[in-house]
Amino acid sequence: MISETTYHRPDSLDQACNLLSENPEAVLLSGCQSLGLLSKEGIISLDTVIDLNGVPELSDISYKNGFLHIGALATHRDIETSKTVQKHLPLLSTAATQIADVQIRNAGTIGGACAYADPTADYPPVLMATNATIHSQSSTDSFEYTARDGFFIDYYQSAIGPEEIITSIKIPLPENAGYGFEKLAYRKNDRAIVNVAAILESKDGVCTRSDISVAGVWDTPLLANKTMEFLIGTELTEETISQASDMAREEILVCEDPLISIEYRSAMVGALTKKALTIAKEDLS
Ligand SMILES: Cc1cc2nc3c(=O)[nH]c(=O)nc-3n(C[C@H](O)[C@H](O)[C@H](O)COP(=O)(O)OP(=O)(O)OC[C@H]3O[C@@H](n4cnc5c(N)ncnc54)[C@H](O)[C@@H]3O)c2cc1C
Repeated sequence: MISETTYHRPDSLDQACNLLSENPEAVLLSGCQSLGLLSKEGIISLDTVIDLNGVPELSDISYKNGFLHIGALATHRDIETSKTVQKHLPLLSTAATQIADVQIRNAGTIGGACAYADPTADYPPVLMATNATIHSQSSTDSFEYTARDGFFIDYYQSAIGPEEIITSIKIPLPENAGYGFEKLAYRKNDRAIVNVAAILESKDGVCTRSDISVAGVWDTPLLANKTMEFLIGTELTEETISQASDMAREEILVCEDPLISIEYRSAMVGALTKKALTIAKEDLS
């Protein structure tokens, strides 16, 4: 039997927040790429839907005072093709190009991807490596979460509360960084078995900043903290990058699944970290 859906399409954020507060059972709809699957599988019910696509203030992409602001409704394709993102944070546009196919990228949004908190998705390691903040609003309050510290709580679970709507992502931009993003998937642009985002900065060949995040391997994206610390103050040579990659392979927790052993996943963490760091180093020059 097909059940009826009560469909709301608010045209302002305040209206959307009030609707969510009045209808706590309602489901928010952005690109409907993950929601469609969840509904088809019977995991969620679409009895009441609040479609955010009529809220214009959620689509903005802009650069201001050293920060990149990305509205929650910006699609993967908007992010991939935005001149602002390409100029200020090519790491994010590269990650967007890796998401599924162009039909999905045309509809899926960064806000939906953050709320969905898929541990094999492509934005999470970038948001961790850049130390991004995720902003949300309810009918009574606004909230700010740090990607690195408490936003990605568990397997498909973010810190966003049931009455909150993700409004934007704010990313502090490094001044002269090199970036690397690497992904291993079963098929091109499938979800990641392992993906790695790396950011390096250097002065006179010596590393002054190193941020490395790995996803696809655990319930949440992870930071390679020891590896990051090790690189600071070292000369960025082939040898130190190789040592750092071995270190990342050792420190990053990986899960086992019926198709992929712990050993293989760990080896891929090392290999992809090496590649991402090498590309980031080349990007510095
Ligand atoms: C076949 C397929 C392949 C894919 N491959 C990849 C891939 O390779 N890499 C990758 O990263 N992703 C991949 N995805 C996921 C894709 O990126 C989705 O677009 C994304 O996860 C969800 O975004 P959406 O806008 O479609 O959200 P929706 O499907 O609309 O919503 C997803 C969830 O988030 C909630 N939500 C939506 N917007 C908000 C908001 N603003 N605030 C609070 N909650 C909200 C919804 O209620 C729902 O629970 C794939 C998806 C499909 C269907």
